[in-house]
Amino acid sequence: MTALPFDNSYARLPQGFFARRPPTPVAAPRLIRLNRALAEELGLDPDWLAGPEGVAALAGNAVPEGADPIAAAYAGHQFGQFVPQLGDGRAVLLGEVVDRNGRRRDIQLKGSGPTPFSRRGDGRAALGPVLREYLVSEAMAALGIPTTRALAAVATGEPVVRETLLPGAVLTRVAASHIRVGTFQFFAARGDVEGLRALADHVLARHYPEAAQAPSPYRALLESVVAAQAELVARWLLVGFVHGVMNTDNMAVAGETIDYGPCAFLDVYDPRTVFSSIDQNGRYAYGEQPRIALWNLTRLAETLLPLLAEDETAAVAEAEAALAGYAPRFEAAYHGGFARKLGLAETREDDPALAGDLLKRMAENQADFTLTFRNLCAAAERPEAETAVRDLFVDPTAFDAWSGRWRVRLSQQERDPTATAAAMRAVNPAYIPRNHRVEAMIEAAVERSDFAPFAEMLAVLSRPFADQPEHAVYAEPPAGGGVGYRTFC
Ligand code: AMP
Ligand code: MG
Ligand code: MG
Repeated sequence: MTALPFDNSYARLPQGFFARRPPTPVAAPRLIRLNRALAEELGLDPDWLAGPEGVAALAGNAVPEGADPIAAAYAGHQFGQFVPQLGDGRAVLLGEVVDRNGRRRDIQLKGSGPTPFSRRGDGRAALGPVLREYLVSEAMAALGIPTTRALAAVATGEPVVRETLLPGAVLTRVAASHIRVGTFQFFAARGDVEGLRALADHVLARHYPEAAQAPSPYRALLESVVAAQAELVARWLLVGFVHGVMNTDNMAVAGETIDYGPCAFLDVYDPRTVFSSIDQNGRYAYGEQPRIALWNLTRLAETLLPLLAEDETAAVAEAEAALAGYAPRFEAAYHGGFARKLGLAETREDDPALAGDLLKRMAENQADFTLTFRNLCAAAERPEAETAVRDLFVDPTAFDAWSGRWRVRLSQQERDPTATAAAMRAVNPAYIPRNHRVEAMIEAAVERSDFAPFAEMLAVLSRPFADQPEHAVYAEPPAGGGVGYRTFC
């Protein structure tokens, strides 16, 4: 089989990091979708990938030359409970390639059969969640948010047993790496300081080379992950994204969004929103995400204590100093982001209060998050366009009371209204993966093998900031504001 340009640095780490394990072949692989642009970015030939040999590789039926399939070991806190061994239970890392921009990228098959870490699971993935992850991760990428990517989806021709029999699929996922907070926890839980050091050195060299040059590289590593996650979570909040299962094994140290399971986007704005059916206490609600990210980073910091200083008190002080960087970094990204969403070219001291007041009024009036900000863009240019914003509020006068303050603030900046509206349209998407649309897309694929809605939605979501009048239905909120929507992943 044709060689792909693999260079597998993770597979060169010591034995305890992973289990070597090829993917398990499937009955009747059929390509659902190939991400040709991403293939080219990775330096892979899309025509080869779409052909019989490529599809066999993407299904796990053949291992391409140069690949070295491994299932990674990791641990993690799941809903606050520590599990000392999780690991890739239904995924294998085929290997790494260095892309056209010189960036090292993991190529992983998800749903590729059991591994030594499967516990009681079957190692497989159902078509619905594979399409959800493909669509939502690509939508996030188009929104400019760091994320794993989807290279391909392949139908297996085999059923998977869930509550009912469902069609199976394999997702090919591309990531800066699949190293998680839980990977560090795996070694820390075993008291394996040498393993921990090898992992930290690998992450420094691979993701944070500037930190590797710092006077205290491990402290700089922690600071770098803290900064990346603070930025990431702020970016999620700015588009109304709810990850849904922010366990420490689902937090990538490279700062990419990873593990799209029960994730969903807000329709009406309410910071208490929880979509996942298994998140019964709202631990991972929209508005809890900044706090949970810091909680997870604190678990990462704990694992690094043996590397931070000889003396434990000194190590704790180092960790605390690095974690103290989280709040200012998050707040700058969050408040700066909302200021841009409101059309403010720079952030002034009382702008966070202006944004906060709008959000409060939105929550009280069940205003749609995405549409409120998108419709504000036109209102910045043409005051009469405000109607399309105020009509989103149960009590439109609640918006009017706010908009007067906003107009005063806008009038204090130099930028002309047309430029302000254009800048707002570049940060306030018209199109997000609306939950009711995602469900309809999955239903068409699973019930009727109709992949046309998937293809159409992908195309629309690849240009989230463009007005696409012919696809206006994809911008429409669900009846009833989507309240009570549940995800089951
Ligand atoms: P997740 O909730 O998807 O982040 O997964 C948590 C853990 O369960 C990870 O170790 C997964 O590899 C494992 N897992 C999830 N689904 C399956 C499955 N169908 N078979 C085996 N392991 C699984
Ligand atoms: Mg996971
Ligand atoms: Mg998952």
